[in-house]
Amino acid sequence: MTTTLAQVDPEIAELISAEKTRQADNLRLIASENYASEAVMEASASVLTNKYSEGYPGRRYYQGQDNVDAIERLANVRLRKLFGAEWSNVQPYSGSPANLAAYLAFCDAGDTIMGMGLPAGGHLTHGWNVSITGKYFKSIAYGVTKTDHRIDFDTIRSLAKEHRPKLIFCGATAYPRTIDFGTFRSIADEVDAILVADIAHIAGLVAAGVHPTPVGTAQVITSTTHKTFRGPRGGMILCDKVHAKAINRAVFPGLQGGPHNHTTAAIAVAAKEADCPEFKIYGAKIVENAKALGEALLGYGFSLITGGTDNHLLLADLTPKGIGGKPYAQALEKAGIVCNYNSIPFDPRKPFDPSGIRLGTAALTTRGMGVQQMTQLAGWMNEVAQSHEDETLQARIAGEIKELCAQFPAPGLPLS
Ligand SMILES: *Cc1c(COP(=O)(O)O)cnc(C)c1O
Repeated sequence: MTTTLAQVDPEIAELISAEKTRQADNLRLIASENYASEAVMEASASVLTNKYSEGYPGRRYYQGQDNVDAIERLANVRLRKLFGAEWSNVQPYSGSPANLAAYLAFCDAGDTIMGMGLPAGGHLTHGWNVSITGKYFKSIAYGVTKTDHRIDFDTIRSLAKEHRPKLIFCGATAYPRTIDFGTFRSIADEVDAILVADIAHIAGLVAAGVHPTPVGTAQVITSTTHKTFRGPRGGMILCDKVHAKAINRAVFPGLQGGPHNHTTAAIAVAAKEADCPEFKIYGAKIVENAKALGEALLGYGFSLITGGTDNHLLLADLTPKGIGGKPYAQALEKAGIVCNYNSIPFDPRKPFDPSGIRLGTAALTTRGMGVQQMTQLAGWMNEVAQSHEDETLQARIAGEIKELCAQFPAPGLPLS
């Protein structure tokens, strides 16, 4: 019965192996990505995937839950301690379902909600029109100011007073600055809305204490577990105890069936890893690297939205470099630098061919790279921007990057 993946399905085995090499040999700057630890991957690839566990610990609909109950309890105990939260739910399948659970807990279809618009850096699930959250709810989008591209609280306050939303989402997917949860909460209180802080991108920074926490300020906190938090692909919700029942019911049976127990176990492992002094250092280094990369890029004449960063990500406007975000991201990939093209606030170009790229430093920091490597990276990025059709240049840089990567092995990946 012991047959390896390579024996059963050589095609998939080969593709996974190629992906390992890709993740090992390239500089991964997609701001939502990271390298999970080998311990996290071991838990998430375990026999727990075989078990069905509808319900919550101690209140399941199937037998045989002793181990799974203990695992889910541990995940919750660790997360509540780590974030100082009264309540947690680790069952959402990912960040988007965690957000849907917040809607289901507090809204009826057709209710008014507010969230940051996608073009300003918000997430699809904060009410954008192509998402179910923009179709089933009356969604009012807010954004950033035209002048400094920071969150526009004056407009948010007046929109909230005009439309009286039931829920206000804060948090973003492409916003390089600290989120002021306190001001959001004061606006929510003025209109009796519930504030949901979506910390999908910054959960690791919050856990490390390098971004202010929304715990104690937002009534509900949603997140992924796989971005800066460095856990498995998954979701979680933290909330005050008064909302525990509503959140639990919304996740199950409101939205989902059986929880992904292998993911729950891996979240527990990630929470343990994050509750260590090393993780605080890790979080601080992510931010230090993002600032260093930003400074170096500014030095090469790049333009950064808001002029820099407070967190793990940078949003660069390529207009001064005379190249679109998409062809630049494609050229960078050929040079071994992987990021995504991204709209910038008030982008004159179309979403599929926008002016910017988004860069994040979580994955490189996991590999142990520091300020020196960020400076080197900015130099390569500048070279590619100067002649983005030069394939010889791209191949040369890709080779140099492969050598650099070999000095900074990533968890669980081969060195080629
Ligand atoms: C990534 C992200 C999500 C969605 O997470 P998925 O796991 O991709 O569903 C939700 N909100 C924000 C702010 C995000 O950045």
